[in-house]
Amino acid sequence: MTTTPPIIDSHVHLDLIVRHHPQRIPWLKANHCTVVSWAYFEGVDSVARFSACLDQKAACVHTQAAGGLNCYYLAGVHPRSIPPDLTPEAIAALLARALDDPRCLGIGEIGLETGDVREKEILYAQLELGRSKPARTKVVGVHTPRANKPAMTAQTLTMLEDFSDLKERLVVDHCTHHTIAQVLDAGFWAGITLSPVKTSWDEMKRIVAGESARFGRIMGNTDSGSEFFEDVVRCRRGHDLPEPLLASLFHDTAKRFYRLPG
Ligand SMILES: [Zn+2]
Repeated sequence: MTTTPPIIDSHVHLDLIVRHHPQRIPWLKANHCTVVSWAYFEGVDSVARFSACLDQKAACVHTQAAGGLNCYYLAGVHPRSIPPDLTPEAIAALLARALDDPRCLGIGEIGLETGDVREKEILYAQLELGRSKPARTKVVGVHTPRANKPAMTAQTLTMLEDFSDLKERLVVDHCTHHTIAQVLDAGFWAGITLSPVKTSWDEMKRIVAGESARFGRIMGNTDSGSEFFEDVVRCRRGHDLPEPLLASLFHDTAKRFYRLPG
């Protein structure tokens, strides 16, 4: 009998998958794929609009969970979704309802895109929130941008030096072979986004080979949303890495990091 190992895609955008690729929901269920949906909203022109988007996202996750998909979410202000009228002081109230929701595993996705002052103050406030009571038992998901990846990752890690107390529950995502060693050296968890537009499977295998002592801190994902990628499921089902390594990259590490049940 063939067993189907469970999979966790550690970073997707479930609301966008439902909108653009609804036929993928039964596909994820059939592939025993749990998803963690990070927050990213397009066209957010006010705090009120952001708040409505976040409520819709939570409702989407609850609806899909009721329909049998294993799914969770992170709530946060992505650097490309910062409402113009948002002040750092207002962030705790903006995310409070979500952080009270058991399906919300933490704060994300947050981070720097261009590294300007505004992005930094919003990121800093969200990292501070990560230390506060409503988020103390939850994780923090940090994005790194496609442009200027090594320099922006270095800037992000410089900011994170003030938050080393979060390192057991903070993942820096979209790492590449240029950036993963810095992230792991700093003591954080590392995400690798596996898709034709980010990191290829061959590159991921090279990264993992170079980090053989620390592969237990690395988790794979697709960042699927308006574009859907099968890479995590396909690579997990392949046999070109030892089975314990595949289980670690595509399930066990994310399960440990997110403290998922089961
Ligand atoms: Zn994302």
